[in-house]
Amino acid sequence: MATERDLYSVLGVGRDATDAEIKRAFRKLAQQTHPDVNREPGADERFKEINQAYQVLSDPQRRQAYDMFGTTGDGGDQGFGTGGGFGNFGDIFDAFFGGTQAGTRRGHPLAGADLRYDLRITLEEAVRGVDKEIEFTALGPCETCEGSGAAPGTEAVTCEQCGGRGEIRTTRRTMLGQMVNVSTCPRCHGEGKLITDPCPTCKGDGRTQRKRTLRVTIPPGIDEGHQIRLSNEGEAGPHGGPPGSLYVAVHVQPHAQLRREGTELAYDADVSIVQAALGTRITVPTVDGEEEVEIKAGTQPGTEIRLRGKGVPHLRRAGSRGDLHVFVNVVVPSKLSKRQRELLAEYAEEAGEPVSADGGILHRVRDALG
Ligand SMILES: [Zn+2]
Ligand SMILES: [Zn+2]
Repeated sequence: MATERDLYSVLGVGRDATDAEIKRAFRKLAQQTHPDVNREPGADERFKEINQAYQVLSDPQRRQAYDMFGTTGDGGDQGFGTGGGFGNFGDIFDAFFGGTQAGTRRGHPLAGADLRYDLRITLEEAVRGVDKEIEFTALGPCETCEGSGAAPGTEAVTCEQCGGRGEIRTTRRTMLGQMVNVSTCPRCHGEGKLITDPCPTCKGDGRTQRKRTLRVTIPPGIDEGHQIRLSNEGEAGPHGGPPGSLYVAVHVQPHAQLRREGTELAYDADVSIVQAALGTRITVPTVDGEEEVEIKAGTQPGTEIRLRGKGVPHLRRAGSRGDLHVFVNVVVPSKLSKRQRELLAEYAEEAGEPVSADGGILHRVRDALG
């Protein structure tokens, strides 16, 4: 490989030379070294060199590329770039444009697909945590060929098209120089190997559908939509490739009486106007069983009673648990018996509250007179 000479010094101009200066310098040198006029040995080579330097420096884009990268981008056997920090032109463009590093990728088997399993659990299970056995059918390694895809006693051979690299590199010339395009080998699909004698069981794929049983540990505090990743429990990769992951998507069934928001639970407790006024004890459902709660005399609608630590555990803070919020809902009776109506009217009179059974406005006559 010839050592590259600086193109500016070939033409005997400075790096800041104008287009006109470059043109003038070239003409002068070309006249002196042209093989038709100069019969000295080496003149031919010298003329080529001058001509080539001019081709690059007279083209604004090629000159800019040369200033940036220090090479002409002509590649071939000119030896450009040998003195620079880059091994070859492909590497320069890889470094600047984010291509694949040359030669570092080798043929490799494809990975198996990730799988998702939707698992339904109850709120109680989400609070306490649970171990669940799940059963599903997925592609696993073929038992006949142990996943290789090659018939027993045979082996996969190196792909001739890519030489086992699994990728095809094509070089393309552009104005900025050579662009190296790396693509997956179409013959072996990037694996670098080919099976000539396929396994009769899996037809060369290396995988068969198999029933699997797995135990999944659901931690306390898990919420709707959370996913548990079980690496290597997904589909097996073809031809012995690495398996994908299994994602267990957790769905927490809505509870009949309790609402959940994160670590907090809520319960609406219906009490009658009399219970709210006189006080009572009610039973509240919790994830740990029923609990008796006192409704104090004179409890107002919307009153919140908090049962500390009766909520959902924090998923990432062991021992810490949310609360159960009991909201008191005072139910006003919509139907009254005759007797109930009389008693309430009596109560109203006692309380000094004006009421009218027929919907009219009843005035307190005594007060009005008084
Ligand atoms: Zn097989
Ligand atoms: Zn190949």
